[in-house]
Amino acid sequence: MRTNCDAVVIGSGFGGAVAACRLAQAGCSVTVLERGRRYDSNPFPRNWQNPSDGWLWEVRQGLFELKHFSHMMVVQGAGLGGGSLIYANVHLRAPKEVFNHGWPSGYSRPALDPYYDLVGYMLDINQITTAQFRPMPAKSSLMKRMAEAMGRAPQFCFPNIAVDFGEPQKLHTNKFGAQQEGCRFCGECDIGCNFHAKNTLDLNYLKLANDKGAEIETQCEVTRVTPAAGGGYLVDFLDHRQDRHPGELSANYVFLCAGAVNSTELLLRCRDQYGTLPKLSPRLGCNYSGNGDFLAFAFNTRERFMPSEGPTITTGIVYAHKDSNDETWFILEEGGYPKEIGSLLQILNPHKGLLADIELQSKSELTQLLRQNAPSPGAHPDADHSAVFLAMGRDRANGRLSLHPLTRALDIDWNMASNAPLYDAENALVKLVAEKMGGEAVANPFWRLFRLPVTVHNLGGCPLADAPDAGVLDAYGEVFGYPGLFVLDGAAIPVAIGANPSHTIAAVAERNIEAAIRRITNEKTWQAPERSFAKPIDDPLSDVIIPPEGVTPLVAR
Ligand SMILES: Cc1cc2nc3c(=O)[nH]c(=O)nc-3n(C[C@H](O)[C@H](O)[C@H](O)COP(=O)(O)OP(=O)(O)OC[C@H]3O[C@@H](n4cnc5c(N)ncnc54)[C@H](O)[C@@H]3O)c2cc1C
Ligand code: SF4
Repeated sequence: MRTNCDAVVIGSGFGGAVAACRLAQAGCSVTVLERGRRYDSNPFPRNWQNPSDGWLWEVRQGLFELKHFSHMMVVQGAGLGGGSLIYANVHLRAPKEVFNHGWPSGYSRPALDPYYDLVGYMLDINQITTAQFRPMPAKSSLMKRMAEAMGRAPQFCFPNIAVDFGEPQKLHTNKFGAQQEGCRFCGECDIGCNFHAKNTLDLNYLKLANDKGAEIETQCEVTRVTPAAGGGYLVDFLDHRQDRHPGELSANYVFLCAGAVNSTELLLRCRDQYGTLPKLSPRLGCNYSGNGDFLAFAFNTRERFMPSEGPTITTGIVYAHKDSNDETWFILEEGGYPKEIGSLLQILNPHKGLLADIELQSKSELTQLLRQNAPSPGAHPDADHSAVFLAMGRDRANGRLSLHPLTRALDIDWNMASNAPLYDAENALVKLVAEKMGGEAVANPFWRLFRLPVTVHNLGGCPLADAPDAGVLDAYGEVFGYPGLFVLDGAAIPVAIGANPSHTIAAVAERNIEAAIRRITNEKTWQAPERSFAKPIDDPLSDVIIPPEGVTPLVAR
């Protein structure tokens, strides 16, 4: 590994992959440091009996990182490709009103649309309706019919998803030279696609970065960033391939893209623990959002929902309503899961499930119970009549990440009272949909027992702003007070997007890396080579019809 380069990129998710690809294309020497493993040439974990065998980041750099905070539970990915390895592939644009408040100057839907088109081209996004080789999954048709039956058809959509709908079980080479197969509809998107039918970042942006000479180092966890005496930065990391051997790289530019929670934590430690970046804005840690995530289930549905058939998410129903005091916006998407999880989830079944009769006192009791009921390979007879829903919406983005002054432990302060009406509205729509299906809704156990939100869509912590008293980064993602240090991932997003955020994270990263490259290379008109191929793409969320007075309000039972 080289010890000096033009740019170090920390993390390889939606922000990091975009940055690495564009910097390498612009001729910069780039090193990517990613804490997780490679899966482009290695299989994803499938040992259902042993949670330590490849599943958890904490245990030998596995695929998932679970963080339990006092008021929030966080799930995120670790590996080359970041969250794209385990996400549900959904790409939706932030509706135009999202940019009305909280963003620095220069951000609007029209301004971002060309970058959304570019991301759409790179990730080959499509709706489930374009899949030629398989009939529509049962759950997708059922959700459409339920939306119609509830009078919510104008708010129904098939989101764009980054899935290859070519012929299953037949290898082909994608436009970037990576090998992929067509989707087999196996429902395993959220645990990694072993058929490479998901258009994950390692098969496009990172493939290009590698081909253009970027050095990509996996299992290298960055621990500290320090300004170097002669300019630029020193980046310290632990090399897990060599038993946490310490390493150091120097670079003129550093692009921090470790995800909302981890980028913010790294900067908090550099300011408050190590003192290497003391001038960071007092707003560091602010504007944290769980993007209104709310996970729930329906059991004993009249028709078969077949949660393990088809890509994980294929449909959405938007809820948007204003009253004199407040505005509520969220999207309810159907979910899916691998068939092996079917038996585990039946413990939540309100009629016959283990959790129906047990009163739990603590989160650790619940975690232990879930561990004891490890998923089993056989299909459960009730699994086909069970459904998953993931709602996400515009919470108030009023959380704050900080380090405990004595223990230095990271925590999230989350204002439940001000965000509860959103979660309650999401819960109410889940109940209505479940009822229409003839089933019964059950919120995820962490919410039901402890009112603890679980989020997979963290945003904020290092908000973009026009001035340092309002945020941590300028309008192009450069850290106030530290020239050449950038944050280009979900941490930069200053508000809750509401819709699935990866598309916006990547589009904002495309915008800001273009500006950075123009400055670094002094090429005033530099743009991504693929800009000339990217055509305008229809955004299904933009076609949803919301009446001026809002959609039919929810009448919770
Ligand atoms: C189960 C699940 C399903 C999801 N489904 C969707 C979906 O359908 N659509 C959608 O838009 N979003 C979805 N998301 C959310 C999406 O994955 C994230 O919003 C997105 O990945 C965030 O992008 P990012 O660039 O900010 O960070 P990430 O993609 O999280 O990338 C950060 C990278 O940095 C690495 N890293 C962290 N710390 C360090 C360190 N110290 N040193 C080196 N590397 C480090 C991490 O390993 C990771 O690879 C889902 C998430 C989950 C968990
Ligand atoms: S449904 Fe299966 S084959 Fe298709 S993208 Fe998801 S994991 Fe891959």
